[in-house]
Amino acid sequence: MLSYKHAFHAGNHADLIKHMVLAATIDLYKQKDKPFVYIDTHAGSGIYNLTERESNTTNEYKSGIKKIAEDPYFSKEAFSYFSTINKLNSGNNNMVWYPGSPCIAQSLLRENDQMIFMELHNNEADKLQKNFGKDPRCHIHHRNGFEGLVALTPPTPRRGFALIDPSYEIRDDYKNTVTAVEKALKRWNVGCFIIWYPLLANEKDHSLYMHESFRRMNVKNSFTAKLCPFSPADEEIRMFGSAVTVLNAPYHLLEKVQEILPKLHEILKQSDKARSFIEIYENEQ
Ligand code: SAM
Repeated sequence: MLSYKHAFHAGNHADLIKHMVLAATIDLYKQKDKPFVYIDTHAGSGIYNLTERESNTTNEYKSGIKKIAEDPYFSKEAFSYFSTINKLNSGNNNMVWYPGSPCIAQSLLRENDQMIFMELHNNEADKLQKNFGKDPRCHIHHRNGFEGLVALTPPTPRRGFALIDPSYEIRDDYKNTVTAVEKALKRWNVGCFIIWYPLLANEKDHSLYMHESFRRMNVKNSFTAKLCPFSPADEEIRMFGSAVTVLNAPYHLLEKVQEILPKLHEILKQSDKARSFIEIYENEQ
């Protein structure tokens, strides 16, 4: 039984790093005319209303998207990401809608690009279908994203990338993520993989396991960026930050992330002990 609902967390610091990396990756793939495929293994419902009960129970977006929405640096440097937000909210004085990863992809991909969205939760899958089902570029699967990632790769065309963004509700999600990426990489060695995972200030943290597992895959052009707005020593905060690992990153993505991350950290940091950083995997091949 799945109980995680992304609506409680939409627009928080974890979404910011993940979605800015996503939008920047799309921009880089669009630099060539050739069409590409975007695979979203854990899509959620795709669009979130920040005025609804879920958002206002946690208020996570207030220390996330709300803090950077007006910042002139981000409206320029993360232009594509903000163009999606602005498009969704045109006509509203305040930000009402926050785009999930499917919405960002739908708004930025071109006519000949393709999207594959997977979601296991019944209600979320229904909403996903309702929100994106009419777009012929979007292929929606109500299925397990770990199994789907392996089954649907290599995609046609082979050019493209996958976002793997589980809720990590169950401990096996960590192992399943690593196994699915490992298998998919064997079938789709030109694919780029963006994997998100939380940094937790307790014994449930598996970030070292994730980091080591991806490093051992020994994939060229790979790095991990960690955005930590809180300090791990802050006892009230369970998730003090989160990480995005990119394997087979497109050229110039690392530079873009290196540029944006310190600025994100500066605006979002809640403690002087908070520390965000990038680790670049050494490739032995
Ligand atoms: N990627 C989305 C975004 O950025 O807007 C957010 C996804 S949310 C963190 C994780 C989603 O995965 C939830 O909607 C949850 O229902 C779904 N989920 C959990 N286990 C899954 C599985 N094994 N396969 C596919 N979806 C799953």
